Amino acid sequence: MQPFMENLPAGIDHLLRRTKTPEEEVIIQVATDMDGQDRFGERWLAVTDRHLFFFGPDGTGEPVRLPVEEVEDVRVEPLVGGGRLEVEPRNDEAVHLYFSSSLAPKFSEIAEGIKRLSKGGDAGLATEMERSRCPRCGRVLPERDGICPACVRKLDTLRRLLGYMRPYRFKVALLLATTAISTLLGLVPPLITRHIVDDVLTPRANFDLLVWLVAALLSIGLLSWAADVARKWLGTWVGLRTTENMRAHLYRSLQYLPLRFYDRRTVGSLVSRMNNDSDLVEEYLIFDIPFIVSNAMMLVGILGLLFYMNWELTLYVLLPVAPIAVGGGLVWKRMESHWRRWSVKWSQLSSHLNESIRGIRIVKAFSQERRESERFDRRSDELRGVMVSAERNWVVFSMVTNFFMSFGVFFVWYIGGGQILDGELTLGALMAFITYIWMLYQPLKWFGDFYGFMMRAYAGAERIFEVMDTRLEPVADPHAVAMPRLAGRLTFEQATFGYDSGKPVLNEVDLEIEPGEMIGLVGKSGAGKSTLISLVCRFYDLTRGCLRVDGVDIRRIRLEDLRGKIGLVAQEPFLFHGTIAENISYGKPGASFEEVVRAARAANAHEFIVAKPDGYDMKVGEKGSKLAGGEKQRISIARAILHDPRILILDEATSSLDAPTEKKIQEAIGRLVRGRTTLAIAHRLSTLRSADRLVVLDEGRVAEVGSHEELMAREGIFNNLVKTQQQTSEVMAVGGGKE
Ligand code: ADP
Repeated sequence: MQPFMENLPAGIDHLLRRTKTPEEEVIIQVATDMDGQDRFGERWLAVTDRHLFFFGPDGTGEPVRLPVEEVEDVRVEPLVGGGRLEVEPRNDEAVHLYFSSSLAPKFSEIAEGIKRLSKGGDAGLATEMERSRCPRCGRVLPERDGICPACVRKLDTLRRLLGYMRPYRFKVALLLATTAISTLLGLVPPLITRHIVDDVLTPRANFDLLVWLVAALLSIGLLSWAADVARKWLGTWVGLRTTENMRAHLYRSLQYLPLRFYDRRTVGSLVSRMNNDSDLVEEYLIFDIPFIVSNAMMLVGILGLLFYMNWELTLYVLLPVAPIAVGGGLVWKRMESHWRRWSVKWSQLSSHLNESIRGIRIVKAFSQERRESERFDRRSDELRGVMVSAERNWVVFSMVTNFFMSFGVFFVWYIGGGQILDGELTLGALMAFITYIWMLYQPLKWFGDFYGFMMRAYAGAERIFEVMDTRLEPVADPHAVAMPRLAGRLTFEQATFGYDSGKPVLNEVDLEIEPGEMIGLVGKSGAGKSTLISLVCRFYDLTRGCLRVDGVDIRRIRLEDLRGKIGLVAQEPFLFHGTIAENISYGKPGASFEEVVRAARAANAHEFIVAKPDGYDMKVGEKGSKLAGGEKQRISIARAILHDPRILILDEATSSLDAPTEKKIQEAIGRLVRGRTTLAIAHRLSTLRSADRLVVLDEGRVAEVGSHEELMAREGIFNNLVKTQQQTSEVMAVGGGKE
């Protein structure tokens, strides 16, 4: 759904159609969530290219119609817990719309849009808005753009889980069949023992029959053992395959998720989804579902048999079931919230673990081991706390259940015994009855525990599905423009972007970069240099304005074509665990060895590579830990050279290297940038001098553009930056990397 085009209720839709002319194009139709300053309710606002329409509460009465050109001013006034949109007409009283704080970013955007419209421009609304509330129930979401825990339905989750089993339909059917067989076989022995008691033991006769009956018991025992083995094998097979598929799907989703998704989540919480949650689901599929299915069959079978054998007695047995079911319902509701809290706590614990292990050098260097351990203990303690309260609930409930259940058995002995004395029931039948009751109670008792597992598994599955349900990057958009060849012209038009809507980091940037031009991006730390570069890679989409590549809006270009033509040499080169050759050919997996060597030579890396014991086959270690900083950089330059991008992005390292290495890297970069559109976050004087133009960013705006000499002569921001750097450092550098 478009953020500014909500579905109108039928009545309001009708009113709007009646009031506006057919030619008018509706640009905005949104509802507020407050009816006045302190009252919750809905008020609708519709904006066309000519008019603003304000509808009354519940859509009653004629809407207030205001021509766009009559609008004098539009403002958003912040109030406690929300805000007010004020539209001031030239010759009339202002119209006010109230909203709660969750809608504030949206109405700020709307106010700006109306303002632009009233000045004769385009509304130019943001193409995407974050959701902080669930569109269905209106609750605040735990994570922006995330999933509402209250609205995920268990049945849907189960259906989706089962959907993953579809490829193994045949095996699942076989599994159900073996489960049914083993359950049915389990019901037979008490019937046989009944005959042994009534027809052999009580009359003390019929030895032949005894032999037959015992043989029957034995064969059923063997058969049910075989069915059980088959059931377990099939259950495990299907469960493992299903979770494997799910895990693969999850990993694929993680690869294609937009960076925005990662900005809001910790690595630990994602790793925990991959490991812990999928383990829970696996356990559920392998153990719980078969258990529940077989026991449900067993319950139905036993109840049928009991009613068949003696319906009167059965009713007595079932007396305690009603209070247990009601109590169970209440307890389970509470357990559910405990399990949710448990999964949140668990994810916090694993995030902590992940972070502290990744940062172990810093932890040690600042000797903070003890504090980290204490923080871990605290989280671990919280996790235990949640578990304890969940268990406490459960233990109390199961004790009470057991107590009631035993009552059923007393009834059977008392009433059944009486019936035997009256000759209405045989001893064998009573024994069979009692055996069945125990068989009935056991699974009932276990169902509770399994409910706990099930809730955990659902919580896990929901968290996995949440990742899968997040909108992925449009890699396979069929409407995207294919651009296999790019010249590399970049045009920013009024480009505005913020990581949080309402807080722009880049503000109305206008910039034209020619194909093959080298641009040095300069500015204080936090000025928006890295953000600008992220936009060129389309890691994020603009909030407003436009970025064109070769004249085509970047959002319309096939992502694969765009990224295939962009090369990135990051400030901290990231190498994957693998050989040097594999790392160089990362962007072109089929590259021949000659190509790899050629790229390495061009990057001045060949010499140091062949000096290594295994040469190009040397394993670089995790994140390239076995290589020096300058070596890693040259490998990442070689990787970019081999990738042969049209648009090159250089995020220069701030740390200075020794002079000979520095020189080699500069030479390599010099070869790399030739003939490519280059955007360099420039720190080194050499880069600044060799850039065709420098673009100085200041607080998200383009402050100065020009050659090094021009900017130095201007004595503006750039000149200032250079002077400050000269004063503080021998090495001349400008700007700073991402902090
Ligand atoms: P520079 O590269 O010039 O140092 P950045 O583009 O990295 O600046 O950052 C510009 C602003 O955007 C900073 O205020 C920074 O805090 C913010 N910012 C950068 N990355 C993110 C992110 N992933 N999420 C939220 N804010 C961010």
